[in-house]
This record gives sequence, structure tokens and C-alpha cells, in this order.
Amino acid sequence: MDFEFTPEEEMFRETVREFAQKEIRPYVREMDETGKFREGLIKKMADLGLLGITIPEKYGGPGGNFTLACIAAEELARADLSIAIPVFFLVEASWAWVFARHGTEEAKQEILPKVCKGEYFFGIATTEPAGGSDIVGNTRTTIKPKGDKYVVNGEKVYISGVNESMTVMKGRYFTTAYMNKAAKPKYKGITAFICPVEKGIPGLTPTLFEDWGRMAISTGGFALDNVEIPKHWIIGDPTRGFIYSMEGFSAARVIIGATCIGSALGGLEIGKEYIKQRKSFGKELARYEGITFPLADWYSRLEGDRLVVQKAAWLLDQVNAGNTKYNHLDAALWCAMAKLRGPIDAFAILNEVADWHGAFAYTKECPLDLGIRGVRSYSIGAEGGMNIMRLIIARELLGKQYVPYDRQ
Ligand SMILES: Cc1cc2nc3c(=O)[nH]c(=O)nc-3n(C[C@H](O)[C@H](O)[C@H](O)COP(=O)(O)OP(=O)(O)OC[C@H]3O[C@@H](n4cnc5c(N)ncnc54)[C@H](O)[C@@H]3O)c2cc1C
Repeated sequence: MDFEFTPEEEMFRETVREFAQKEIRPYVREMDETGKFREGLIKKMADLGLLGITIPEKYGGPGGNFTLACIAAEELARADLSIAIPVFFLVEASWAWVFARHGTEEAKQEILPKVCKGEYFFGIATTEPAGGSDIVGNTRTTIKPKGDKYVVNGEKVYISGVNESMTVMKGRYFTTAYMNKAAKPKYKGITAFICPVEKGIPGLTPTLFEDWGRMAISTGGFALDNVEIPKHWIIGDPTRGFIYSMEGFSAARVIIGATCIGSALGGLEIGKEYIKQRKSFGKELARYEGITFPLADWYSRLEGDRLVVQKAAWLLDQVNAGNTKYNHLDAALWCAMAKLRGPIDAFAILNEVADWHGAFAYTKECPLDLGIRGVRSYSIGAEGGMNIMRLIIARELLGKQYVPYDRQ
């Protein structure tokens, strides 16, 4: 067992930390208020190899693994407690990676280099108005062949990055729909494909939600009315869209764990400095057990969360590198644990640290509200609700025969 990062990984952490503290941290409140990324930031992230970090070099990416992706996510979130920038980073790192694994060569050559340059945003669109947790049973969107193309009808909601895709970049989304409603088992009827989200796509109508966290990245949706998709934008085997989605969710979930941990670490660092200088009853707050015991408890908890994330990332890297001792279900279990722990603990930690700041925490001079609002998105449900993580963990512990849903 080796608990050390390699010198290369440490160096990478230093580089991302320096970048994030200089280029992101001073501007986080401004980005939260304007609801936009700072001008030029995406280009700088691209230059540093942070866009599509897991995309192979062959397609213009840095070819990084999930250990590196988690290091970067943690550092980005330590600087951007609101986690808007890490969300942008992690959605691409996970979903463009699935596409790079299974997409057609032609589509990958067309799309991935532009993702790495920041010209395209690569997103995920599975959730629909009828529900997100049970994407198999509730997918109403359909995809059908028409001549040498496919046509898609339906609606996707609560989708990250829609406004950016319609304005400063173009969106390419990993999207799912039913190709064959009669398939048995049902999940084999689901097909994954690339959906374009940009101005001027006939039949595509974007929507935007007014949300209350991670404001610099939008949450929206799009209705699809006979939107045409070229044949080569179908991802992999049309009967395996559900499986590819599960691969992407595992990848996203581990990086979400790292992101939430980064935001909580950033908050704890701010809190530690504050309690050392703020006095009450003639002494620094850092002398009172009512303050330091929660600090000790939460720090211990957070370091445990970090180990779960590191093991989950390591497992994903093992599976991807072809180590047959592990399979994608081993990775899914650990990635679900990372997603279950990170957002819940980060929210509790940032809330606790806010208490230490008294009234100051309730002003916008203090950055803690950014983190509290941001990490809550992931315990509410983005990339899968907490109970869905519990279902996955229980399934892996007890066996598929005990899942509470219909497996047909
Ligand atoms: C900020 C934000 C960004 C998002 N970005 C994206 C995106 O980019 N792309 C995308 O596709 N989706 C996105 N989502 C949607 C997200 O994936 C869904 O919110 C999630 O899958 C849950 O679906 P739902 O909201 O429809 O909740 P529902 O499926 O209606 O579930 C409601 C609640 O019931 C619980 N629940 C459901 N089934 C069970 C069960 N069997 N047992 C116990 N509890 C259960 C859930 O955990 C949840 O707490 C985003 C969400 C948010 C908040």
C-alpha cells in the first residue's frame, strides 16, 4: 500500500493550485453575481490542459487519468468554493471520456479536439421532466432512424451548461433516448448519442432555470422536436446506452466527491485563520472546545472522505488500464460512496464553519455562502440523488436480487 502521490501528481497539484488561486479565487464572487465565467478563463484552462483532462492525446486531450482529474477538481474547488468552475471541469472529464471510449472515430475527431480547446462544451443530458433517478423507466425521449439520419423527440431538463452552449461556446451532449421501447430487458432499448446544443438547430428549443448556486454555470434544458442527428453521432452499440451512462455516472461521481472535498477544505482553511484571530470573552475562538472539537471531528471525517475518493479514482484507473482483478461494478460501488459522502459532509462542514464566523458569515464579504449553495446541488441530486447512491451501494453489498425496483 502506498499513500503517496507520485512526484508528477504532486507537481500537477501545485500547478493547478497556483493557477486556481491566482486566476479563479479572486473572481469567484464576481462570477457568482454575474452568472458568467470570467472572460478568458476557459481559454486559460484549455492552455493548462484542464478541459477534457481524460481525453486521449490522439483527440487533442492531455490523456490524464481519474487520479489526476480528482486532484485538479479538489484544487479548483478549494479556490472556487461555489464549485461552478469544477462542475464545468468534471462534467467534461467524465462524459467526454465515455464518448472517447465508445463514440465513432469520425465523431471523436470532429468533436473532442474542440472540447479540449474550449470551443465546445461537452455535457450530459439524461434527466427529463418526469424524473431523473429512474432514467430507464422514465425516459420519454425517443430516437428513430430516418433515411441516413436519426430524429429525436422529447425533452431534457436540469441540464448543466445550456446557456454557455447557446452563447459563448457550442454544446455537444451525451444524451439518451429510447430507440426500442419493446426491448427486454428494458435498458437495452436505450441508445446514447450526441445531441448538438447551439443556436440555430432546427427543432431544438432551450430553456433556462433560475437556480441558486454555482451561478457561473447555468442549469437549463432543451425540448427536441424532430431534431436530426447524423448516424455517426450514435455512441457505440445502440443497445448499450444505459451501460455507457452508468460508466459516465461513476466517472462523474468520483470527481464530484473530490470537488465537494475541495470546497470544504477551502472553507476549513478560511475558518482556521478566522478563529485564530477573532476574539470573544477575551480569548481567540481557537481556544474554545466548542469551536475546535467540531474542527477536529470534521477534519477527520474529511480526510476519510478523501481516502474514499482516492481509492475510487484508483479503481477506475485500474479498470481502464485493463486490470482484470477489478470490474466496473467495483468502481461503481466506490464512486457511489465518494458521491454519498463528499456532498453531505462538505455541506455540513461549510455550515459549521459559517457558525464560527458569526454575522460576518451572513454577508457577501464572506465566501461561505458560495460553498453552501454550491455543494448542496450534489446532495440534492445532480448526477444522482443520495438515495440512488445508497441503492447502488446496497445492491453491491446484497446482490441484484434485492434491488427494490423492477429489473425488466
Ligand atoms: C444543479 C443541478 C444540475 C444538474 N445537471 C444535470 C445535467 O447536466 N444533466 C442531467 O441529465 N441532469 C442534471 N441534473 C439532474 C439530476 O441528475 C437529477 O436531479 C437527479 O438524477 C434526480 O432526479 P430528479 O431531480 O428528477 O429527482 P427524482 O428522480 O424525482 O427523485 C426525487 C427524490 O427521490 C429520491 N428517490 C428516487 N427514487 C428513489 C428510491 N427508489 N428510493 C428512495 N429514494 C428515491 C431521489 O434520491 C430524490 O431525493 C442536475 C440537477 C441539479 C440540481
